[in-house]
Amino acid sequence: MNDSTKTVERFLPFTRPSIDEETIASVAEVLRSGWLASGPKVAALEAALSDYLGGRPVRTQTSATAGLELALLACGIGPGAEVITPALSFVATANVIVRVGARPVFVDVGLDSRNLDLAQVEEAITPRTRAIMPVHFAGMPVDMERLYAIASRHRLRVIEDAAHAIGSSWAGKRIGSFGDLVVFSFHPNKNITTIEGGAISGGSAAELRSIELHRWHGQLKSGADSFDTLLAGGKCNLSDVAAAVGLGQLRRLEEFNARRRALVARYFELWREDAPLKLPERGDEGHSWHVFTPLLPLESLSITRLAFIEAMRERGIGVGVHYPAIHTFSAYRALGYREGQFPNAERIGRETVTLPLFPAMELTDVERVVKAVNEVVRGARKK
Ligand SMILES: *Cc1c(COP(=O)(O)O)cnc(C)c1O
Repeated sequence: MNDSTKTVERFLPFTRPSIDEETIASVAEVLRSGWLASGPKVAALEAALSDYLGGRPVRTQTSATAGLELALLACGIGPGAEVITPALSFVATANVIVRVGARPVFVDVGLDSRNLDLAQVEEAITPRTRAIMPVHFAGMPVDMERLYAIASRHRLRVIEDAAHAIGSSWAGKRIGSFGDLVVFSFHPNKNITTIEGGAISGGSAAELRSIELHRWHGQLKSGADSFDTLLAGGKCNLSDVAAAVGLGQLRRLEEFNARRRALVARYFELWREDAPLKLPERGDEGHSWHVFTPLLPLESLSITRLAFIEAMRERGIGVGVHYPAIHTFSAYRALGYREGQFPNAERIGRETVTLPLFPAMELTDVERVVKAVNEVVRGARKK
């Protein structure tokens, strides 16, 4: 058999954004308009997001990382303060706490839910605690009733890292349509994109003013020739080019998330019995499935995770890792954290693999992934 008789299947990445032609045309229109930075498209995107989130105020930024940092600053969190956050997330969640001068206080996560353990949150509260920063992991909402009950009992602000959770809902209410400050990401890997970008939903009048000042030089304009700088602000305002992409994406959000749910349902169906991986918690229809992240049963396998990823790549399938436990990174060991403190986060960090999931995938792609995983994992079982 020569090569030309083999069927060559295209490479299937673990994620890929879907940008339609109408959106591409709207970007070209902005580029021709003469106004590229924050302008009418940013205003329109903030209005459309606000509309989607039940009319709450929305402020966009150049990333969720910037949004989380602005939210912390707006809550007056800085040196001497503690913020409780899960040990398993993208590292940005903890980095922003350190960047404003506060201390991240980690708690463990559920092995299947990947969401922070609320009993441990209560135990971690001290007189220095100022806020809780939960993550709706993979788009599965944290128990909001219990979270906000703890926060109000201890007078803490909640800054939700909702980077995974645009379009998720809890008890029928959209994430971001209630709660204190809720931060979304529009990075290309997330459920909708503005290329780079993020948004904060919610906030008091004073917090919104702080967010606007920190987002743009701390400056307040009053008339064409008069402005004052009220604080040493940064600069992380979104561009109209990015906002045009976001407007096109937001129109498709419900469709995209429905597709993600259907693809995940197919994974669960094909692995309803004898799954060779430990599947994540299924959640309900409020789960927006940003990523599908089963655990590899490494203890019963003769291969490493890296060898698994490489074997999948040889079969034309991309596999990601979301995420190593934050406290095991050098910068967090330097703060005194040690291996062994958060066993679930550490185990997930070692065993997690992100399988392909994005709206342009077909159900047959899921079948292809399942077949490849079954082959690789079953072939590597210790005898
Ligand atoms: C992607 C991500 C962020 C950061 O988002 P950016 O928009 O890339 O800054 C923060 N937290 C979590 C959980 C994320 O997945």
